Amino acid sequence: MPASCWRKPSEFNERLRRAVAERAYQVCEYCLVHEEDAYHGGEVDHIISLKHGGASSLDNLAFACFHCNRHKGTDIGARAETGAFVRLFNPRVHRWRDHFHLQSGPIEAATEVGAATAKLLEFNHPERVALRRILADTGRYPTIEALARMRE
Ligand SMILES: [Zn+2]
Repeated sequence: MPASCWRKPSEFNERLRRAVAERAYQVCEYCLVHEEDAYHGGEVDHIISLKHGGASSLDNLAFACFHCNRHKGTDIGARAETGAFVRLFNPRVHRWRDHFHLQSGPIEAATEVGAATAKLLEFNHPERVALRRILADTGRYPTIEALARMRE
């Protein structure tokens, strides 16, 4: 193997993480909290998990806060209120504003995809809503970066 093809895994991961974070303006692509405002920072999420055949490529990666990433786990869908299986919100395919409405703390779903995602990722857990309200009161939520994400 030529030396130019070899990379330490940690270098590759850090470069990929940086690319994913910068593309998302350091904002969680699910709940729109900026990584500087998330207690545990931001992480790289496999939209389609490795377990389900997803790749570690930019078109299958999203920037997610700790809470969204933990609640999403390896899931790719959830049961809707109707009982039907619904795919989760995919930041690479869907526009945030088509599936969610931002209130001054709660995130309301506008579609079945939005509802399934909001429920599974526990967007409106009281502690998360309280944090977003505090951030909103101090002008940190949504951030300019999050507003840019919403417009995309
Ligand atoms: Zn989040």
